[in-house]
Amino acid sequence: MKKYESFRRFLAVLACSCCMFLALFAAVQDSLYALSPAQLKTHRSGVWYFNVDRDNNVCSNESSTSTSQAESAGTNLDYAGNPVLSEAQLEAIRQNQSIYEQAATQVDIPWQMIAVIHLRETGLKRYNPGNGQGVYQFVNMQGGPYPAGDIDEAEFLRQTILAAEFIKAKAGSNLPQNQNLTAQASTDAIKDTFFGYNGRAEVYAQQAASLGFDPNTQPFEGSPYVMNRADAQRDPAVNPTGWGQIKTDGGGIQYPANNDYGAFVVYASMAGISTVCSAGIGQFVWPVDGTANVSGCFGEIREGGRPHAGLDIGAATGIPVLAVTDGSVRVAGPWEGYGPNFVAIDHANGLSTSYGHMDTMSVKVGDQVRAGQQIGTVGNLGNSRGSHLHINFYMTETGEDGPHLNPLQNGLTIPEGTPNPSDCK
Ligand SMILES: [Zn+2]
Repeated sequence: MKKYESFRRFLAVLACSCCMFLALFAAVQDSLYALSPAQLKTHRSGVWYFNVDRDNNVCSNESSTSTSQAESAGTNLDYAGNPVLSEAQLEAIRQNQSIYEQAATQVDIPWQMIAVIHLRETGLKRYNPGNGQGVYQFVNMQGGPYPAGDIDEAEFLRQTILAAEFIKAKAGSNLPQNQNLTAQASTDAIKDTFFGYNGRAEVYAQQAASLGFDPNTQPFEGSPYVMNRADAQRDPAVNPTGWGQIKTDGGGIQYPANNDYGAFVVYASMAGISTVCSAGIGQFVWPVDGTANVSGCFGEIREGGRPHAGLDIGAATGIPVLAVTDGSVRVAGPWEGYGPNFVAIDHANGLSTSYGHMDTMSVKVGDQVRAGQQIGTVGNLGNSRGSHLHINFYMTETGEDGPHLNPLQNGLTIPEGTPNPSDCK
C-alpha cells in the first residue's frame, strides 16, 4: 500500500470521526473509507488506528501447493480482531515459505502446518539452537545432534522434510481416508494432528466436554496447544478459571492457560481457513450460485464521488444467493438502498458480510447459516439498476455503515470463467 494512499485515508477517517452527520449523506451502499483488516487494529475514542504499509490481509486463494509467496498470510486476525502474527513473523514465514512448500508437497500436508511448528519450536529461526535439536527441536535424528549456528538452504530443507514427515505421522483417527491433508483439508483433521503432536491428554477431552464439544470426536477443542485464544471461552484473559492447561509433564491442569495462540489458531491465520475464511483453504464460497459476471468493483467512484463499498455481481433474478461462510444472521429485512430483503451475517473473527438488492430472502434474524447455504435470491430491488447481488465485507464492530473491506482482497475469489470486464481485484 502506498503511504500517500494511507495518509489520504487517515485524513478521511479523521474527518469522518468528527462529523457523524456525514454518514447521513452517504448512500448506504457506499463507504467513505476502506481499511483492510490488517490495517485496522483498534478503534478507540472514535479514531482508527492502523498500520501503514501493511498488506498481509489476503486470504490465501489457492491450495497450499500452488500458493504464491505473496499470499503467505491469511487473514491474520484472532476472534477479537487482533493480529495473530507480528509483522516480523509474517516476513520470516514469507522468507521460509518456499522451503515449507517443498517439504509439504513431498509429504502431502499443508505447508502452513510446518510453519506453525517452526514458529512454536524455535520462533522461525534459521539456525540450530544450542541443544543439538535443530530448527524444529525434534529432529535430533538422521545426523543429529546438530551443531549450533546458522544452517544453509539445503540443511534447512532437509530438516524441514523431517519435520513434515514427523507432523504427518502424528495425524490421527480424523485423517481423511485418502491420507491427504492438503486437498479439502478437514479442519478437524488438522486440529487432531496438532493435538497428536502435543500429546492427547485425557484431561483436554474433559475440558472440551466442559465447553460443549464432543469429547470423543473433538477432544482437541479442549487443548490450549491447539486452540488457545480461538474464541472468548478459550482465551485465558477472558476465561481465566474455565480454561486451563497442563504446564508440567505429567502434571494436572492449571489455570489460566498460557497466553500463546494455539497451533491451529496460528495455522488458520496463515492458511486463510481461520473463522474468517472457513469455507476452505483460503476461500469463501462464491455467493451467486449460477451464471454471473462481476459488474462493479469495490472502491470504484460512484455518483457523488464516493467509493463503491462492496462488490457487484450481475446475475439473473431468482438465482440463489449463498452465505460465503458460516455465521449468524444479524439483519434480515429492509435496509435503505438495498431493498426489502437485505441480509447481514456476522461471522466469527469479527467479520460480517451483507447481501443487497435480493428478490427474496430465506433466513431470519438469529439463524445460524453454513458456508454455501442459500439465504435468498438475486434481485433488482432498492437502489439498483439491473439485477445483481451487492456484497459487502466489513468488521462487525464497525457495522454496516462503517469502513468496508474489499471482498476480493479478503478471501473472496472470482470463479474461473466468470467475466470480469472491469478487472476488479
Ligand atoms: Zn453495489
